[in-house]
Amino acid sequence: ATQTETLEFQAEARQLLQLMVHSIYSNKDIFLRELISNASDALDKLRLSAFKDKDLDVDVSDLRIDIETDPERRTLTVRDNGIGMSRDEVVGLIGTIAKSGTAELLRTLRESKDSEASRELIGQFGVGFYSSFMVADRVTLLTRRAGESDGTRWESRGEGTYTIDTVPGAPQGTAVTLHLKPEDAEDQLHDYTSRAKIKEIVRRYSDFITWPIRMETGEEGEEAEILNSRKALWARPKDETTEEEYRELYKHLSHDWADPLETIQFMAEGTFEYQALLFIPSRAPLDLFMRDAKRGVQLYVKRVFIMDDCEELMPEYLRFVKGVVDAQDLSLNVSREILQQDRHIRLMRRRLVKKVLGSVKGMLTDKPEQYDTFWREFGKAVKEGIVTDADNQEAILDIASFETTHDPERPTTLARYVERMKEGQEHIYYLTGASRSVIEKSPHMEALRAKGFEVLLLTDPIDEMWAGSVTGFAGKTFQSIAKGQVDLPGGDDETESESERTEQRRNFAPLLEWMTTTLEEHIKEVRLSTRLTSSPACIVGETYDISPALAKMYEAAGQ
Ligand code: ADP
Ligand code: MG
Repeated sequence: ATQTETLEFQAEARQLLQLMVHSIYSNKDIFLRELISNASDALDKLRLSAFKDKDLDVDVSDLRIDIETDPERRTLTVRDNGIGMSRDEVVGLIGTIAKSGTAELLRTLRESKDSEASRELIGQFGVGFYSSFMVADRVTLLTRRAGESDGTRWESRGEGTYTIDTVPGAPQGTAVTLHLKPEDAEDQLHDYTSRAKIKEIVRRYSDFITWPIRMETGEEGEEAEILNSRKALWARPKDETTEEEYRELYKHLSHDWADPLETIQFMAEGTFEYQALLFIPSRAPLDLFMRDAKRGVQLYVKRVFIMDDCEELMPEYLRFVKGVVDAQDLSLNVSREILQQDRHIRLMRRRLVKKVLGSVKGMLTDKPEQYDTFWREFGKAVKEGIVTDADNQEAILDIASFETTHDPERPTTLARYVERMKEGQEHIYYLTGASRSVIEKSPHMEALRAKGFEVLLLTDPIDEMWAGSVTGFAGKTFQSIAKGQVDLPGGDDETESESERTEQRRNFAPLLEWMTTTLEEHIKEVRLSTRLTSSPACIVGETYDISPALAKMYEAAGQ
């Protein structure tokens, strides 16, 4: 019995749909890219399932994407014979948005009055399937999951609800049919029933898709035409690839709508052969600091997609890097467990990390604006590597920037800091705190400011972790100005005579003694100091004490 059920979209999904229906994008053509991208993913998944599950009875000999148009009825259909979806999957995947960061994105969108900014925000998030509603006022999806006998029909006008039916005997895979909006009918630019238009969009946005994207020629007895060239960009020399081709592959892989900040391509030959094409996005994803954040590198083996989000290829602190790594000498059967133990994979990962850090270093020297963007977006994540990747600690410190007292407008690299160090200065001074303004008001700053020493102002929680453990940079050690004795070179200490100091000590002895007994429970010692200029006293940690901010972090983490 096939009874039509009407269901409601989840609230977040409804809001995103609203944005699509009222098309906040200037470029509607990309809806086709999104549908093709989904079809391509579904074909990848089917091939992989068929390979892993010998009992799954499916034909994988002719996997493909077909595009059909009907100018009379004004419909456009994108059909694949991929993995398909079960009824529950249709409800869960199409009626709901499970992406982390959705709620936050929508809140930001509601608060933002600037439509240009909203567009950029949502573009960054990517809306996939829902982009169909930019060009269609009704969308029908017919799907059957490989291995199941019943199919499912889903239909919606992009308003609050959708209907769902069970369809016995539907073809395996998914067909998405768009009922195109009448207002685009007379508009040449948006005629999505025109062959030429479809061809142009596919060439432009989906050329690299590895599956054939076909369209009937309309001529009796003629074979369907394959619209895409199916070139694996990562396996082709750089000089045979255009920037635009790289960009579109990036968008397919990342689901990002903005261009990448940097493209890194290289090939390794010899005993363990592989090709890598990596991208650094131009913006941090919303979930960069969420626990379930994805790591973006895909693993292929001999041109066959194996897995998304391959953690073994990219360390966590570079989780924002996207791309493809295609290895020639791995088995198609490779599993996460095997990857974890494989020596070649470890070598490959080391090389990938070096390439990424090297390309950031290149930006730092040759493309400072691009570097600034990189550091603003990803610096916080990259700094995690100072603690977690001992092998590359130096290289990371080398490309890092920090706020300092030198220039409130611009962060500085450590190399620049060291260049500016004063005669006789042996340490890189730093102070951690909740914000720049809090740190600047700290009494610990007084003497350094008075004597003109530059201080790093570290405000990210991760700074607490590395600053205390890193030994040094360029032969200079890091010193927290909130801890232990800070002996400032060239200061008053040298000019004061020994007798003056003895006298001072004698004068203050009763006060110090009184303070020590009064505060006994809270402090270890009261010392006379030369580090303050206007505050009468400050609290100092022992050299090896954890700082108050770090203590708070441990407390928050339940330790
Ligand atoms: P995304 O592709 O970023 O996950 P989409 O909105 O494009 O987001 O698609 C949502 C989900 O719906 C996909 O992740 C996939 O699980 C499912 N889906 C969409 N199109 C297809 C399809 N043609 N075949 C199988 N599953 C699909
Ligand atoms: Mg998609």
